[in-house]
Amino acid sequence: MLKRVLIANRGEIALRVLRACRELGIETVAVYSQADAEALHVQLATQSVCIGPAKASESYLNQTALLTAALATGCDGIHPGYGFLSENADFADACAAAGLTFIGPSGDTIRKAGSKSAARDLMRAAGVPVTPGSDGPVSSVEEALAAAESVGYPVLLKASAGGGGRGIRRCDNAQILPAAYAEAKAEAKACFGDDEMYLEKLVLAPRHIEFQVLADRHGNVIHLGDRDCSVQRRNQKLIEEAPARCLTPALREEMGQAAVRAARAVNYEGAGTVEFLLDADGEHFYFMEMNTRIQVEHGVTEMITGVDLVRQQLRIASGLALDVTQADIHLEGHSIECRINAEDPTKNFQPCPGQVSFLHFPGGAGVRVDSCLYNGCTLSPYYDSMAAKLLVHAPTRLEAIRKMRRCLEEFTLEGFPTNAELSYQILYHPIFVRGGCTTAFLDEHLPELLDFSRRVEEHEEGV
Ligand code: ADP
Ligand code: ADP
Ligand code: MG
Repeated sequence: MLKRVLIANRGEIALRVLRACRELGIETVAVYSQADAEALHVQLATQSVCIGPAKASESYLNQTALLTAALATGCDGIHPGYGFLSENADFADACAAAGLTFIGPSGDTIRKAGSKSAARDLMRAAGVPVTPGSDGPVSSVEEALAAAESVGYPVLLKASAGGGGRGIRRCDNAQILPAAYAEAKAEAKACFGDDEMYLEKLVLAPRHIEFQVLADRHGNVIHLGDRDCSVQRRNQKLIEEAPARCLTPALREEMGQAAVRAARAVNYEGAGTVEFLLDADGEHFYFMEMNTRIQVEHGVTEMITGVDLVRQQLRIASGLALDVTQADIHLEGHSIECRINAEDPTKNFQPCPGQVSFLHFPGGAGVRVDSCLYNGCTLSPYYDSMAAKLLVHAPTRLEAIRKMRRCLEEFTLEGFPTNAELSYQILYHPIFVRGGCTTAFLDEHLPELLDFSRRVEEHEEGV
């Protein structure tokens, strides 16, 4: 087993990793930027090291600083969390070259899955259905126009290196394509330092359905069922649930097997997620991308399977075989997660971090809160605006919805605006309650969802 792990991240995911390490008897080294000196993960780690100034490019993305800190403190492993360097193939290689175990797949696997355009070819070859789109990248407006013409409008222009919903633009016709192409390319350059673009047919009114996979070094690959992450704003997830209500057992089986084939196609190791779009007909599904890391919403899968995914990551990286088989995986009950972000939904979801003046988290049976906030702490403007994840687990979907409403009533955070009230409204919306949300739901219904004066009881019946 690994003995001492450097956690190359911050926020709630740094805490999540720290907790799993503690439970396995693994020592932890926290790293922090100058903006994070007071952060909870720093206070709870065995040891901590300051790795640079607030700007992520000079701290959490500084590979040399991270490797130096890991070696100086006698670590044998590095956990990258999500975001930052978690999907950086060169970093995974650099860890290996320094004799450190990168807790995730190999650099080679990350490279294969990481180019979203190249991954489409690999998946097609492995018999995984992909969205119709350009064959490989498009490198000029002319190529993009030709590809769009052949797949048919509307299309999405997407960054090969994309993540977090960035570098994506919708194009409904040839007239707007040149401007959208330039915009998406510029955003990709700014966010990922890589502006390669590709193009996909826009799947209309789809659902975002993803499968959790686990793979060890001994050739075992299993899936842990699905999550529905269709409630999104700006292509970014806000509410996730497991299992997806719209899947029949037969389709779940088929998609699960496709996810396992996808993982095998890139020699996967560790915990990963295969993302699909499910067509409006609820029958056809298309591979979208593979995320080669722990996912923000992994907790809903943990709640319905009882499998601790970060613990599995640490075991797999230590060279151990999976201690669960596909036959051991049963999806019990229903789980929902609400991401609470420091943002103002009435002002186009503008981030608005600040100091927490009062904080109370919900509790009780079937409730889990993953957050790095505490009374008096400051949520830094330098990083992601996610402040907390509220998770519930109940025997049925309706009971889970009721429990989440109760949690959102109890949740109190003073000091800056959040999307909590919006989430509360969503939990009462008849389309959500019915399980009818597509990825268009939030944008289409935002005005009515933001009318907080509407009495939520109006929606209550008709459940
Ligand atoms: P998930 O797919 O796990 O739900 P998100 O797409 O919401 O994750 O992204 C998770 C976190 O990682 C967010 O903080 C997001 O800003 C960040 N992130 C995701 N992909 C990238 C990337 N390629 N580069 C930098 N940050 C990223
Ligand atoms: P990221 O790497 O930023 O997470 P994804 O490729 O996973 O990007 O897409 C993010 C979101 O954008 C999806 O969850 C979905 O809502 C939407 N999306 C992506 N591709 C398509 C498509 N071809 N048709 C319709 N929606 C799409
Ligand atoms: Mg995605």
